[in-house]
Parts: sequence; structure tokens; C-alpha cells
Amino acid sequence: MLRTAATLATLLTALAVPAQDTSAYCRFCVTHGKVACPKHGKMMEKERGPGILNCSVAAECKACGGALEVDCKQCVDQKVEAELARRQQLAKEWLQQRRTAVDALTKNEPYAHLQTTHYELSVTLKPATIGRERFDQHQRLHMYGERLEALRDLFLATFEIPDTDLPDRMTVVMSEDAKDHNIVAPRLTGLGTANSIGLKLLGPEYIYAMWVDKRGVPDDEALHRNIVHNVAHLLLTQMKPQQFLGNHGHGWIDEGVAHWLEDKAVGKCTNFCFEEVLLQQPASFKGGKWRQAVRKFVDDGKAIDFAVLATKNTDQLTFVEHTFAFAYVDFLLTKFGGAKFRDLLRLVKADKPTREVLQQVYGLNPLTIDAPFLAWVKENYSPLLER
Ligand SMILES: [Zn+2]
Ligand SMILES: [Zn+2]
Ligand SMILES: [Zn+2]
Ligand SMILES: [Zn+2]
Repeated sequence: MLRTAATLATLLTALAVPAQDTSAYCRFCVTHGKVACPKHGKMMEKERGPGILNCSVAAECKACGGALEVDCKQCVDQKVEAELARRQQLAKEWLQQRRTAVDALTKNEPYAHLQTTHYELSVTLKPATIGRERFDQHQRLHMYGERLEALRDLFLATFEIPDTDLPDRMTVVMSEDAKDHNIVAPRLTGLGTANSIGLKLLGPEYIYAMWVDKRGVPDDEALHRNIVHNVAHLLLTQMKPQQFLGNHGHGWIDEGVAHWLEDKAVGKCTNFCFEEVLLQQPASFKGGKWRQAVRKFVDDGKAIDFAVLATKNTDQLTFVEHTFAFAYVDFLLTKFGGAKFRDLLRLVKADKPTREVLQQVYGLNPLTIDAPFLAWVKENYSPLLER
């Protein structure tokens, strides 16, 4: 009896522990030992979005240091506290690395950084009104992080390739001003000198760095197209087997795929990978509505023969040839499907001649492909309206 009473007393003591005891049920945090950081408002959803690994704005949160959760003050759980400290440390180290790699190059406004599953993104984008909504730099950072991941998903789905065929991470730097870009881009890519609009490093590291030149990129939609077009080149090059397709007469594939994805993601083509072309004419050739333009060239007997197109490198393509590069890719992808085009890409990247590849994949050759292409254009491209 005495013994039972003693046991009961112990039990009561155990139940009546102060809030600091780890064995207690904490009504404040429901015994998780931590609570969501209250400092992120609407952006919490973005910080916790799929594929978001680190954000510089979150990492600089004074309350949580990027862990997005804070220790519960009502109870003690050392394991949870250690885990939060570890996450803060990782966010801090990541941000330090980005600041050293990018911000340290300029002495200007710091970049905002985002790490997603497949990208390191750095921006100095100014706030912008998109549609009717105002987006600040932090919101635009996340928006472009999402757009970049969506582009990679679109690439995988379009060409029906497994995730493992795009093995490399990519770095994208979007500077609002030419001044920052002209310092950061050459240093990161090791390419070019002063006064570029965008620089791409196509392996072994994959980097695209650009600045928002209002002449070619007047608004957010144009910026989105610019990013899609140029990062499409990074994806196309790193797709296994890894090879740049802008030379050896494969410019039509290199540019055609980039234009096609630009059109698919944003509905227009306005980017040309050749600065001289950009300078010749504003980057709004035929208003970016190329199906209609191609149809008109075809109707006027000005179609580009595939045999001619398929001898040019990316930097040799004229405006008209760019539209036909887009249209040939559109024809092959739409009529025969992504898997066949993937086979074409793999064979061409493995240095097989275009003639043999067309025969093997499509049963066509550079001379017989024109007729079905022209017929398809007449059937599918309206001379009046886009699509
Ligand atoms: Zn608690
Ligand atoms: Zn963020
Ligand atoms: Zn926080
Ligand atoms: Zn291009």
C-alpha cells in the first residue's frame, strides 16, 4: 500500500513537470519543439515551395536564419534545437558562398539569391508590375525560380527523356543594370568582354548571365522569353550525350529548339543568339509571330530549302532562316512526336550526319523533307492568324 502510494506520487510528480521538461506535452507547439517562423507572411508558401532549397531573403531572416521554423519557447527539445541550428548553419554557408561568388565581384546593391533543385539563380531585378499586380524583387526571384524549374520540366516532357539525361545544375544571373552584368558575367563565364547583353557558358559548367536591356527586353514577358530561349540552349547542350549543336551545320536544331520552347512557354519568339542580328533590327522580327510569317514566305515561294538550312551554324542564320529553323522543329515535333526528335538529337550529338539521321529516324532525307514540310505548313499555319 505504502509502496503503491509512493509510485503514484512519483507518477504525479512526473505528470506535473514544469513546461521546460522534454517529456511534457506542449500545447503551444504540439510537442514538435518548434513552430513556423512568423516573419514570412505570404512568402512562406514560396519559401516552402517544391524544389526550393535556399533563399537569401529567408536566410537573412533574423528570427529563423532560413530554417523557416523557430524553437518553441514553451518547451525544450534539444534534438530539435540542434536540427534548427544545423539548418541555419547550412543556409548561412550557402549564402556566404553566393555572396563571395557573385556579390563580391561588384560593390553595388547585393543580389538576391535562390537555390532550387537544379539552379542557382541570382537577381538584381527591380520591382515590376505584371498584369495588375506589383511584384517586388523577392517575389520576382521566386517567380523566376519557378519558371526555370518549369522550363526544365517542359524540356524533359517535350523530348521524353529521363531526368538523368540532364545531369548538370545551372547558374542563371539576371542583372537589372548593364554595369553589374558587365562585371559579373565575364567573371563567372570566362567569356566575352565588355558590353554583352547575355553570356552563356555551355559546359562543363552551365551558366547564363544577362542584363535587362530595355531595347530588347521591355517588360516581364520579354524577360521570361529571353530566359526560356537562352536556358533552353543550356539544357539542349547538357542533354546526354553532351554536345553544343550550334556548329557543324546544326544551327537549325540549336536555334529551332530554343525558339520552339520560347514559343511554347510564352507564345512568341523574340530572341536571336547572335548579337549582330540583334543590332541589325529590333528583336521583334514579324512581331514574334513566326507561324504566320513562315506561311507567308512559303506562299511567296521564299521557303528556305532544308538542304541549305542544315549547313548553317547558329551564328550564320539570317532572320528568315531563324523562322524556318523554328518551323522545321515545329513540324518534326508536332507531326512525329517528341521521342523521335529526341532520337534525332541523340544521333546528331553522337556526330552522325544529318542525312543518315533523318533517314534512320523519319525515313526522310534533306531533299525529300521539303515537300511534306511545305504541305504541313500550308495545313497548319494560317497566313492570317497565329496558330
Ligand atoms: Zn513547445
Ligand atoms: Zn524567398
Ligand atoms: Zn524566418
Ligand atoms: Zn538562341
